[in-house]
Amino acid sequence: MSARLPHVAPTEGGGSMMVAWRLDGRRVLVIGGGAVAAGRVRAAREADARVRVVAPRLSPELRHRWSAGEIDWRPDVFHDTDLDDVDMVLACLDDVDESARIAALARGRRIPVNCADIPPLCDFWFASAHRDGPLQLALSTNGQGPAIGARLLRELAGALPAGIGDALVRFGTLRQAIRQAAPAPEDSARRMTWLARIGRGWSWDALAALDEPTIAGLLDAFRRGEPPPDDPGAATRRTGPGRIRLVGAGPGDPALLTAAARDAIAQADLVLADRLVPPAILDLVTGELRIARKLKGRSGSAQDELHAWMIDGARAGRDVIRLKCGDPFVFGRGGEELAVLRVEGLDADVIPGVTAAFAAPLAAGIPTTMRGAADRVLVLTGQGRDGRHVDIPAFHPSTTYLLLMGVERMGELFAGMQTAGFPPTWPAAVVERATHPAQRVVRGTLSTLPALAAAAGIGAPATIVVGQVVDALAQPAAREARAG
Ligand code: SAH
Repeated sequence: MSARLPHVAPTEGGGSMMVAWRLDGRRVLVIGGGAVAAGRVRAAREADARVRVVAPRLSPELRHRWSAGEIDWRPDVFHDTDLDDVDMVLACLDDVDESARIAALARGRRIPVNCADIPPLCDFWFASAHRDGPLQLALSTNGQGPAIGARLLRELAGALPAGIGDALVRFGTLRQAIRQAAPAPEDSARRMTWLARIGRGWSWDALAALDEPTIAGLLDAFRRGEPPPDDPGAATRRTGPGRIRLVGAGPGDPALLTAAARDAIAQADLVLADRLVPPAILDLVTGELRIARKLKGRSGSAQDELHAWMIDGARAGRDVIRLKCGDPFVFGRGGEELAVLRVEGLDADVIPGVTAAFAAPLAAGIPTTMRGAADRVLVLTGQGRDGRHVDIPAFHPSTTYLLLMGVERMGELFAGMQTAGFPPTWPAAVVERATHPAQRVVRGTLSTLPALAAAAGIGAPATIVVGQVVDALAQPAAREARAG
């Protein structure tokens, strides 16, 4: 019988080993005195390296650091002996041949070397880095796209909890205190459980507020052999009344969330969404996420389930948001949900969203109103209540009709509109997944669009636009093709 091998994770070559290099007190040689050299010096000094710059001239920043005694300067071009007793070489020269020569010399002496902007000559490269106190975040694209790396890092850093640097400093103090209180190796498991419970379970606010008295109290509890306490704020948070907010998620592009919606999504500890909210927005959720079932013909019971989630969540003291696509009060059942909550003695704040009704035509380059083309807008559902037929609107030449939830019955709707007096050549367009990366637009007329959309495989979610505005900004060629 052969022994079963433990699972061994496969490795993927072609990357770099990501390390945080401790340069405390080591000698770093920077060759060059320009802006790039100044950046390298900054990075080395943040790691407490002993920096020597070799360059005939220094940039104002470097000259300032030199006069402040922060760095050493040899005002000359590079000499081979500059490599004596050096732990790291950072060449920041425009001269590729001289950089290659320096790189070869350094490598001969087994000194790690980086030549700015010449990846093949580098033993290591600089990560894009973000710093907040003891926290350092680094990201590498392995020389493929430093500008993209820097941008990604900015976005990631923007998503960090406020005060994370302070929280880390306080946590570090607690960690050290606990280590001193029980330094023996046999205490290590208990130390780790304690710290993990606090580091993983406490809110950022509670961690950032770890002051000396709190640390002393925790230390006493640890010494008495008590289990690690829960987040001190959690008890008050949970016994509070809880709250519910109905939040509009906009048409799909996360950039079209309101600032209020973005904050609410990040704060909520229970997020109730449905399938129309795209993954790019659900990715912003940090709390528990539940997606409502949406079964044809059973939307009633799915809706009841949602109500129960909201009500139970709020009664348990949770910060609940009901995340809806577009605007909560535009065909989103937001009004109905609020009415149900009020019957239960609860209430909800409502955060508006950019409605697909208006965003979809806009994203397709169709103005909803425009002098000479439309002076009013009618937003209507293509789905009658409980699946019954909709009221066909009356024809009015300067009205823009925005039909939601109508794509599956477009043929029926358009036939009804023509019977009601709309000309068969009246312009119409359908916008599928507006503002999503996969947005599609099909244009035609009341008589041609249903077949064109079906041929293209257009499906929900899609918004239909009917009216002269569809052609208002269209190319004349497209207009003629449609007329002919
Ligand atoms: N409260 C939403 C509408 C919900 S009804 C709002 O204000 O936008 C669902 C309908 O909205 C879909 O059937 C579709 O007609 C429309 N819709 C939602 N997202 C859309 C999108 N990204 N592109 C086009 N139409 C969309």
